[in-house]
Amino acid sequence: MPDPHGTRDCVVALDVGGTGMKGALLDRALTPLAVLRRPTPRRDGPGVVVAAITGALRDLAAQAADRHLTARHAGTVVPGTVDEEAGRAVYSANIGWSDLPLAALLRDASDLPVTLGHDVRAGGLAECRTGAARGARDALFVPVGTGISAAVLCEGRVVRGLGYAGELGHAVVEPDGDPCACGGRGCLETVASAAAIEAAYAARSGRAVDGAAGVARLVARGDPVAVAVWDRAVDALAAALATFTTLLAPGLIVVGGGLAQAGGLLLDPLRAHLGERLTFQRRPEVVRAELGDEAGCLGAGILAWQAAGVEPAFREPAFREPVTAGSAAP
Ligand SMILES: [Zn+2]
Repeated sequence: MPDPHGTRDCVVALDVGGTGMKGALLDRALTPLAVLRRPTPRRDGPGVVVAAITGALRDLAAQAADRHLTARHAGTVVPGTVDEEAGRAVYSANIGWSDLPLAALLRDASDLPVTLGHDVRAGGLAECRTGAARGARDALFVPVGTGISAAVLCEGRVVRGLGYAGELGHAVVEPDGDPCACGGRGCLETVASAAAIEAAYAARSGRAVDGAAGVARLVARGDPVAVAVWDRAVDALAAALATFTTLLAPGLIVVGGGLAQAGGLLLDPLRAHLGERLTFQRRPEVVRAELGDEAGCLGAGILAWQAAGVEPAFREPAFREPVTAGSAAP
C-alpha cells in the first residue's frame, strides 16, 4: 500500500561483531521495531559468517513483511578494515576474511539493497548524530574494549581513508614495548586495551583477574598493582589522544567500549593526564559515550537511511545507557 508519509517504512540494520550480531528494524527516528541477536559463527570460517549475515538480513526483512512494513534499505557494519565506498571487507583478523566484495555478496544473497559500513565509524556516526557528540563538527569516538579503534569526525565528516583511518590502537606509545598482533611493537592496544590491562595485572601480581572490569574494581579498592597497571594504561591513552589532539584539534573526545563502563575511574584520570600533556592546543572535552553497544547497529541504520536518500529524523536516542554518577560530562 502506498504510504506518502513513510510511516510504514523502515530499514534493516545489522552490526556484525566478533562474537555476536545485533540487528534491528529501525524507523526514521531510529526507534527499534524489531530486534535480533545471534552469535557470529567465526570459528566456522568466513563463508559460514557471510551465510549467517545473509540469514539475519533475510529474517529481519521477513519480520518487516509480517508487520506490513517496507524495508527500504539494509545497512551492515563489520569490524576490521572496511572500504565503504567499494563495499569491500578488506581484512578482519577476528573474522578471517580478506578482500571480500561483501556488499555485493549480501545484495545478491538477500535480495535487499545493502550498504556496507565499518563498525566503529558507524558507531561514531551514531554518537555524532544522536549520542554524546550531538552537534559536534570535530570529534573523536574511541571505543576501548578488547581492542582499540577510533572514528574521526573532521569538519562534519567521518574520515575513512579508504578504510584505513582511525587506527588509534596502533599508535606507538612505548617504542620498545611488547609486540602487537599488527606486527608492530608498543602499540596503544598492547598497553591500554581491556585485554592488555587484564594480562598486565595477571603478569605483575601472579593472580588471575576477572577482565579489565576486575582490575577496575581492584583500583577502586586501592590495590597497588592494579593502580600501577591502570595508571600506565590511562597515561598511554592520554599520550595517543594528545598526539591526535595536536593534529586534528577535536572539540570533543567520546570514550566508549567496555572500559568506559568504569566511568569516572577512567575518565577523571584520563582528563588529568591529557590536560598535563597539552600546552597551547585546543583542549577537548572528554566524555563517556551514550549509546553503549547499540552504537554500531544505530550507525548501520543511519547508513541505510542515507543510502535510501532519507535523512533520519531523530527524536530522543533509541537506546541510551543510564548516566551514573561520575560518568557524565564534566
Ligand atoms: Zn599494533
